[in-house]
Amino acid sequence: MIDSHAHLDLADFDHDRAELFNAMALKGINSALIPAISEQRWENQLAIAQQYHCYFALGIHPWYVPEDINASLVSLENMLAKHAANDRLVAVGECGLDKLKPDFDRQQQLLSGQLKIAINMEYPVILHGVKCHQELLSLLNRFPNPKGGVIHGFYGAPELASRYIELGYKLGIGGLLLNPKAKKLRKTITELDIKHFIIETDSPSMTPYNATEKRNTPLILPNVASEIANLQKKTTVFILERLNKNFSQLFELS
Ligand SMILES: [Zn+2]
Repeated sequence: MIDSHAHLDLADFDHDRAELFNAMALKGINSALIPAISEQRWENQLAIAQQYHCYFALGIHPWYVPEDINASLVSLENMLAKHAANDRLVAVGECGLDKLKPDFDRQQQLLSGQLKIAINMEYPVILHGVKCHQELLSLLNRFPNPKGGVIHGFYGAPELASRYIELGYKLGIGGLLLNPKAKKLRKTITELDIKHFIIETDSPSMTPYNATEKRNTPLILPNVASEIANLQKKTTVFILERLNKNFSQLFELS
């Protein structure tokens, strides 16, 4: 199992990161993809990805729109070029749009720039989208990426899922699925083909509703996988095999 979206570089994990990776290995969670948040954190993120043999992406999250967007986009291009030979670098992201946060116009400018870079440098993108599906879909339409990407933390209905799938995107499914109240998402998982999904936790965020610890960790991944298996009426072994295949395909792992 691989957690396709876990911010394991954040300070939340500084005190027990090594123990956590050991506990993950014991549960069959062999690796994770660590998405980027901001330019300031890239170096630290890369060092941790390197140390723990994780995949990583480089990008700028919509919560951290930089002062000078163009300068940051140039830094991103340079950073991607510098690490192009590293086969653990698999995507551009985390990037996207978030209506609950300020600077929505500048968020769109930042995302457009990152979508163009991903297309030019031939990387899939890891997308964050909150309350902005119209705007996000329209930008993805305007900048079609043959490598596709993932709508991480997806929680929508099958109709919305299908619109992203038509554009070549997969859906990142996490701990929200463990909430019985997540009706739209449960319907999506029940109705759509397993080939459209990858699994993630968004650790340390998106802690499942009934968890005792406030911090989320990749250790919930087996629960997400077995809930997908349950809704798809397949064995967990079959589902895990397919989810791994989807991850490898999307991020072009050999
Ligand atoms: Zn994230």
